[in-house]
Amino acid sequence: MSTALPEQLCLQCGLCCDGTLFRDVELQPGDDANHLRALGLALRGSRAGRSPTTSPVTFKFPQPCAALCADLRCQVYAARPTRCREFECALFKSVAAGGTEPAAALKVIRQTRQQAEQVRRLLRELGETSERVSLSKRFQKVKRQFDAGVVPAGLDRETAYDRFAELSLAVHGLDQRLRTKFHPDPTDG
Ligand code: SF4
Ligand code: SF4
Repeated sequence: MSTALPEQLCLQCGLCCDGTLFRDVELQPGDDANHLRALGLALRGSRAGRSPTTSPVTFKFPQPCAALCADLRCQVYAARPTRCREFECALFKSVAAGGTEPAAALKVIRQTRQQAEQVRRLLRELGETSERVSLSKRFQKVKRQFDAGVVPAGLDRETAYDRFAELSLAVHGLDQRLRTKFHPDPTDG
């Protein structure tokens, strides 16, 4: 990865670290879980196979990532896990290959961040304030409540369902944008 593009694009974006594009990041062979945990990543281990004792443990950490700073820099950049080191979204690749002008890419990033912010605002209005959880998980939680007929406290039924319709549209629009411009499967880190 060139050093110029992360400076130019990624420090205006952060969508692959802030819980917009992915729910979590899985460590790969060679990643040092203990070191990354000591650096502040909230790693959780699980066994994927049938045996609770002999299957290999896989480690994941949730997004928004605890190492993402307010200025969108990675606090553990030099020691970041393999997935982070290797990941380049479709937009980044297109700019690197000369297929997209940096100015056009920055416009896409700005618009996508605005879409994500609209989703966050609507989630808050519906009482979902878990800002340290990925957008897709937060939306699924709200959807389950509405599917069960539970209306958020402080909202009348009509307003709540109007907001939920608005949220569903905003999530759909964001999902389409993420799939076409950034990554074909936004929740799969
Ligand atoms: S989504 Fe793409 S442009 Fe944005 S920070 Fe990640 S790699 Fe960079
Ligand atoms: S470790 Fe760094 S690069 Fe990886 S998700 Fe967290 S902030 Fe992003």
